[in-house]
Amino acid sequence: MPFGWTVNPYRGCEMGCHYCFARYTHEFLGLGDPEAFERTIYVKEIDRDRLVTEFRRARRSGQTVALGTATDPYQPAEGRFDVTRRILEAAREVPGLRLSITTKSTLVTRDAGLLRTIADASEVAVNLSITTTDAALARRLEPRAPRPDLRFGAMRTLADSGVATRLFIMPILPGLTDDEANLRTLLAAARDAGAGEAESNVLFLRPGTRETFMRFLAIEFPRLVPEYERLYRGSAYARPDYVREVEQRVRRLAAEAGLSARRRADRPDQGAPRQLSLVW
Ligand code: SF4
Repeated sequence: MPFGWTVNPYRGCEMGCHYCFARYTHEFLGLGDPEAFERTIYVKEIDRDRLVTEFRRARRSGQTVALGTATDPYQPAEGRFDVTRRILEAAREVPGLRLSITTKSTLVTRDAGLLRTIADASEVAVNLSITTTDAALARRLEPRAPRPDLRFGAMRTLADSGVATRLFIMPILPGLTDDEANLRTLLAAARDAGAGEAESNVLFLRPGTRETFMRFLAIEFPRLVPEYERLYRGSAYARPDYVREVEQRVRRLAAEAGLSARRRADRPDQGAPRQLSLVW
């Protein structure tokens, strides 16, 4: 994994992206119904002293602490429970951290000032996940996530506050968001919103996600079902030749836009990540 430590304040996510790879985490809790992932959200609590101690351990390791590797740390529940904010307040007490945050939510701008303060003493980057600039398509794929233009607005606000941002084009969806026009528009919009770099990954269809996504595809985009069956052939990964073609396309278009691009796999492997302790 390209990070050594993870913190996930919530389990489940109300934003309900049909391709969400974290759906399997609810199955561990015995909640196999795909709807439960979007409707039954588990909120973790923090023990501040313990978290500060663990942040110090993470700092000693020199590894990145990734906030929101499974579900979104700024999903709607954060507006009510403030767990992510309290985690960041603990991080502020430990200068010298390497912190990355991944979100689709504009709520991250609420913490722009706090992130800026953390960035004075630590390395911080916010990854805004945006898969398409087409608001109508985004609404179908990511039903309760903020519109793409609002996410780019959040990117701009963070950049103006002095917080480093990246565009995460994750996942790239075959036949839906992998075309040249969409990728070019995304990369140009990210550059204009102040992002420093872009990272991308083709859709990963792990068990749990596969059933939900293919059901969605059969209802909303039935013409694409044979193409997905051909590309994935029972595997969680798309065919390597397709993945290579898309990666080359992203690299070329990013260079045209003046952004550096990398694949998720390009980030240095930091071993098996450890979860920072939160309390159920
Ligand atoms: S915002 Fe992220 S965590 Fe939430 S459903 Fe979408 S992909 Fe999953």
